Amino acid sequence: MLITAVHTHLLHHDLEKPFQSAFSTFHSRRHMLVEIVCDNGLIGWGECLGPADINVAIVKMMTPLLIGKSALDIEPIWNELYSQFRDQGQRGATLTAISGIDIALWDLSGKFYDQPIYQLLGGAYRTQIPAYATGGFRDPSRDRVQSLVEEITGYVEQGFKALKIKIGFGMATDIASIKAVREAIGPNIMLMIDANHGYDLSDAIKIGNIAAQYDIEWFEEPVVPEALNNYRELRNRQPLPVAGGETWHSRWGINEALKQQCVDIIQPDVCGVGGLTEARKIITLADIHHVRLVPHVWGTNIAMAAGLHFHAIIPPAPNAHEARSAHFEFDQTHNPFRSAIVEEPITHHQGIIKVPNGPGLGVTIIREKLAEFAPKP
Ligand SMILES: [Mg+2]
Repeated sequence: MLITAVHTHLLHHDLEKPFQSAFSTFHSRRHMLVEIVCDNGLIGWGECLGPADINVAIVKMMTPLLIGKSALDIEPIWNELYSQFRDQGQRGATLTAISGIDIALWDLSGKFYDQPIYQLLGGAYRTQIPAYATGGFRDPSRDRVQSLVEEITGYVEQGFKALKIKIGFGMATDIASIKAVREAIGPNIMLMIDANHGYDLSDAIKIGNIAAQYDIEWFEEPVVPEALNNYRELRNRQPLPVAGGETWHSRWGINEALKQQCVDIIQPDVCGVGGLTEARKIITLADIHHVRLVPHVWGTNIAMAAGLHFHAIIPPAPNAHEARSAHFEFDQTHNPFRSAIVEEPITHHQGIIKVPNGPGLGVTIIREKLAEFAPKP
């Protein structure tokens, strides 16, 4: 099964209403898929996290290294791509580009062997995953607390038992938001906060100490990801479990944060950390360092399917009768192509998602939808 072509697909939608995290304003949804074609007619799909247009450029640069290779040689291909781009590309867009290619190769491998990816990766610990709703971004046109409470109440009505809101909009607003959300959802819904590194260490310590009374499951990306020492200090100076990792790419990036004891919960994204090949190695690192692994997920149903296969193979730690399953991050923000591009849209029922069990990723692309959501010149 030799690779004959690699195609990139941009997907774009201008948002009717922008939304904000601590540092960014989303005016559009723009994601990027990788398609790898083989000489036996099989096609694999992957997705890259991060700046879609940069991913397109890097995947195009990597394409000559892929043509003519056996698509089943996933590890040798990973090592060749990484090694050829290593000098300027140890994290960031090089790794997000490799991730999309790697996921497409696993999709091809699954189709070749007629098995779901989780089976090829050693087998699933679970095929039904509890999901949490990711939302609670800021609508700049509305009152923060009121709009947030309206939104998250809807997630609880949908059956989600866990949800994550964005903070990083100023200490007073954030505390008022967290308090209002906890009062609205009651004591039995798991609640997480994500600052998207919108705070410095001092303010993050204050927020963590005040927010603890509202039973917060984790405090995500409190400070900038370069500040590993601040992560470590934050864990010692406030009571909330600290989470992070969506920008720490590759086994080396993740391992540095784990060695420095930065987080209680490590959050690699399979579309950023280096694909499923690297994600499997992160499972080993988390195991060695005894840190909980709860993957980050952000993208279309291709990214979600890859994330579900990753979730399926994360061992319970510790192994116990009532072992917890990491919750799957289910982005609830507006994205009209997220599930429209596949024949088997990924949905939840009462907050539970089934891992696709068809060959490869287990999802089938609808090409007309790729054309429909392609960026207009
Ligand atoms: Mg996050």
